[in-house]
Amino acid sequence: MLLRRVISVSSFKNKISYMKYLLLVVFIPTVIFSQSTQQQPPHAIAIAVHGGAGSLKKLNLTPEQEKAYKDTLAIALQTGYNLLKQGKTSVDAVEASVNVLENCTLFNAGRGAVLTHNGTIEMDAAIMNGRNSKAGAIAQVKTIKNPVSAARKVMDSSKFVLMAGKGAEEFAALQGLQIVDTSYFFTPYRRVQLQKALLGDTAVLDHSDTTGMIAPADITGNPNDKFGTVGCVAIDKYGNLAAATSTGGIVNKEYGRIGDSPLIGCGTYANNKTCAVSCTGRGEDFIRHVVAYDISSLMQYRIINLHDAANYVIKEKLTKAGGRGGCIAIDKNGHIEMPFNTEGMFRGYINTKGQMVVSIY
Ligand code: ASP
Repeated sequence: MLLRRVISVSSFKNKISYMKYLLLVVFIPTVIFSQSTQQQPPHAIAIAVHGGAGSLKKLNLTPEQEKAYKDTLAIALQTGYNLLKQGKTSVDAVEASVNVLENCTLFNAGRGAVLTHNGTIEMDAAIMNGRNSKAGAIAQVKTIKNPVSAARKVMDSSKFVLMAGKGAEEFAALQGLQIVDTSYFFTPYRRVQLQKALLGDTAVLDHSDTTGMIAPADITGNPNDKFGTVGCVAIDKYGNLAAATSTGGIVNKEYGRIGDSPLIGCGTYANNKTCAVSCTGRGEDFIRHVVAYDISSLMQYRIINLHDAANYVIKEKLTKAGGRGGCIAIDKNGHIEMPFNTEGMFRGYINTKGQMVVSIY
């Protein structure tokens, strides 16, 4: 009797351990495996760009000038968007869009960058991958054709985050990036703009009232050589966010001044949990208020949405502190915000429905 009870209890125990065995060895791995191999539906893609914020009075721009800006922003958007459609990453897209703007003399980045006090060009750029918090940045470079691509090389092919000056240029050359004579970046209007800034003894935003952001056609004879720091944010079909910014900084800057653009968290930031942000404006204000990271942190810690976070930081906090500028930002759902507290900001987006909008004021 006792023996039979012992046998039945032991067979019961055996059954339990057999079930456990099945659960551990067969069932759980099957569930995990099938989940990991299940195709995630592609995430809706979206992209936004900016070309600088500032005193952009409607009257300053001729219809032709307005068209030139808008057309270039549209080309930049379409370039990044096409890559996203092909299944390329958001990092690929933001780099390619910023390259378009760097290669165009309309904007204060790459070719057409503003001049320093000494009449030289010193460019800064950054890029960040929201998927893994990897970031790369370069500052004070004078000969790298596309600074944002150098920032990407820093992110992908070095163990550092920020490189500056000659070292950054040396690294970019070793990485096979195109190096050009510094004269490549100069445009006639930048010299006029610097002269005005020198006369007024001001170190100003490209878009400032003092020097005039918009190059009058009668000064340059060319309505196309206009300016503005550039940036791009995007989400790819894998749901990953990225941000990039590229700039010549501010007119008449000196003593190796570096702005917010290459500083991760200040002018550029991306985090898959929250948003990707690229800023433009007086860099010192964006550094002091850690603007890009502040927007992300409000979303992460205060659980507020992108609209509220971005608008609060730019329109309330920064404005109260006397800061000027704006940003473009995109969240993990592809929602886009573009707040600014200046008269205008060159900006545009292609949203998750594929609709493109480009605006200035
Ligand atoms: N934020 C840039 C800087 O301070 C300037 C700009 O946005 O135009 O270097």
